Formats: sequence, structure tokens, C-alpha cells
Amino acid sequence: MAFDYDPNNIFAKILRGEIPNTTVYESEHALAFRDLYPQAPTHVLVIPKGAYVSMDHFTQEASDAEIVGFMRAIGKVCELEGVSEDGFRAISNAGENGVQEVPHLHVHIIGGRNLSRMLAKET
Ligand code: AMP
Repeated sequence: MAFDYDPNNIFAKILRGEIPNTTVYESEHALAFRDLYPQAPTHVLVIPKGAYVSMDHFTQEASDAEIVGFMRAIGKVCELEGVSEDGFRAISNAGENGVQEVPHLHVHIIGGRNLSRMLAKET
């Protein structure tokens, strides 16, 4: 599949400094910032600096250095946010069925409360 990246998505604008964010951590290959609408006491978004739509796009086309840099940033955010001991959830939504709103790869790091089961049961 060919991945079509929209350079005008909101996280691309954050990376270009066109709109503000509350940065938690930044490295050569990643930026982590607070979600604007947090769903738990800790809710941080970790994004790669490269133009990747989703996790499958990233893991197929990013360089080894980008992948390592991004994954290390996730670990660093967990350490900085203090969620390792009590636990957290790392979520990356993709595409229509994944209900992805922003088409730039991001991993939600959510913690600080019990998050219950991962998926709501179908009714
Ligand atoms: P997703 O549904 O996985 O694409 O999640 C997108 C997330 O981005 C949501 O949790 C939004 O609250 C969050 N979000 C949208 N705009 C911003 C923004 N400008 N700064 C921080 N978080 C944002």
C-alpha cells in the first residue's frame, strides 16, 4: 500500500512550530507533548518527526535510527511521567477502523488511573 501523508495535518503544524504544544520531551527523532483533551491524569502523545501516517507506514518505511529514536522516546516519556510502576496504556490508532483523527503517527501514553478493559464490548 502507498501511504499518502498530508503535510497540513495538525501534528505536522506542531512540528513546524505553527501551533503551540506543551512539550514533555524532545529528541532528534521524536516529540512528546500533552494531549489537548486528556482522558486520564497522564495523557501524552509521542510522535516521530518524520512524515509518517501510521504505525504500519512508519515500521515499513522509517530508517532504523528513526524507529529506535521513536521507541526510546516512548520509554523516556514513561519515565518522566512516572507511569512505569503503576502501569499505563500505549495506543496507536490507525485509519478508519482504528478511528484515527490526526493522520500523523502518534502513540498515546495514558496512565495515572485504572483504564479498565482495552475495548468496550459490542452491544
Ligand atoms: P487519534 O484519535 O488517535 O488520532 O488521537 C488524536 C488526539 O490528538 C486526540 O486525543 C486529541 O485530543 C489530540 N489533539 C488534537 N489536537 C491537538 C493539539 N493541537 N494538541 C494536542 N493534542 C491534540
